[in-house]
Amino acid sequence: MASASTPIALPVTTRDPRPGLSGLTPGELEAWLVARGQPAYRAKQIGDGIWRTGAWSLDEVLTLPSALRSELAAAFRFDTVADTERRLSDEGLTEKGLHRLSDGALVESVLMHYPARGAQRERHTLCISSQAGCAVGCPFCATGELGFTRDLETAEIVDQVRHAARRLAADGRRVTNVVFMGMGEPLLNLDRVLAAVDALNDRRRFGLGARHITVSTSGVVPGIRRLTALGPQFTLAISLHAARDPLRDVLVPLNRRWPVAEVVAAARDHAAVTGRRITYEATMIGGINDTDEDARAMAELLRGDHAHVNLIPMNPVAHTPWTASPDPVIERFAATLRAAGVTATIRRNRGQEIGAACGQLAAERAGEPPPAMVARRRARLEDESVHALRGERSHEPVPAGVGE
Ligand code: SAH
Ligand code: SF4
Repeated sequence: MASASTPIALPVTTRDPRPGLSGLTPGELEAWLVARGQPAYRAKQIGDGIWRTGAWSLDEVLTLPSALRSELAAAFRFDTVADTERRLSDEGLTEKGLHRLSDGALVESVLMHYPARGAQRERHTLCISSQAGCAVGCPFCATGELGFTRDLETAEIVDQVRHAARRLAADGRRVTNVVFMGMGEPLLNLDRVLAAVDALNDRRRFGLGARHITVSTSGVVPGIRRLTALGPQFTLAISLHAARDPLRDVLVPLNRRWPVAEVVAAARDHAAVTGRRITYEATMIGGINDTDEDARAMAELLRGDHAHVNLIPMNPVAHTPWTASPDPVIERFAATLRAAGVTATIRRNRGQEIGAACGQLAAERAGEPPPAMVARRRARLEDESVHALRGERSHEPVPAGVGE
């Protein structure tokens, strides 16, 4: 049951130049406070007040001298994401949030509650965005349809987690897992994503273990290689969708820059160096990437790897002619993978009725595209997929903003 949403009208403004407090490390904040005459122990207390409490404003952070509070407020933003809308579904088990940034850009986060089951404790998994929009332009993705607006700042990524943490703290609960599977391609904003992961890992801030953080990428090979050099930071998920280049060129347009063999080779090296299993994701699209031939190609590609495949029925998106593969087809696909020794699970999406595939709420807010544009887009996709299914590589260019 979807609950009524409560839109809050906020004016579109230019971007606030003050950095967000959540983008600073405790050391940076303490140095700033000490430079303004605070003793070190007090600077640490203030830092803890900001990171650890469920405060919603600076006024709630200990009792700050008013001059210092004004100075802090003039230099930094306490909060960089405003909740403009919140929708509940799955009887309250899924909460979708639409956040407005200081320049009016919209991003989404989704909080999913999993009750305790057997030996497994209850989990609260937050799916967050790393960019407003996305340059990669996968045609089955609502974010891809929006195009790219901008990279999020570190604080804008971290504050999505702070919002959820504060809401959960009110009931004595906490965020147990964070997945970068919202809007945007995290590996095209990697410096900020890594700084945000540091904040999530840091015991003084969120104290979330690396095993509880997953970053999903559509296959930015230099980014994967950079992560491999850094050592294990989090679980890496690769959005594979198709094992054959002609089809993947269409489904994940950056495949034209980094073909599937390069992506999987980089993922394999990552697994070998970090000892971490790679998760592959495949959004299952009826009649497009769910054939026996596709299943066999994926099984061959991943056979013998330290990998796991999640098969996810496609969530409907307005601009595409495509729909989810039927359940028996997905079962059959999974069986082909398993027969080759590749472990696979089928993941049903939560909150489909509220558009929980990230980007859908923002796309809805961006307004309905003109019908003629939708018709053109659909016709082009149908044409492209016919060529792809015949095994012909795409002649379309690599999307702008992707690649070096
Ligand atoms: N850009 C990154 C992370 C964000 S997308 C990436 O592509 O991996 C997170 C996941 O949602 C990806 O696996 C993506 O393929 C999936 N996804 C996007 N649109 C979807 C849809 N309409 N239905 C089901 N999954 C979708
Ligand atoms: Fe971008 Fe990921 Fe959506 Fe593709 S699936 S357009 S990479 S957000």
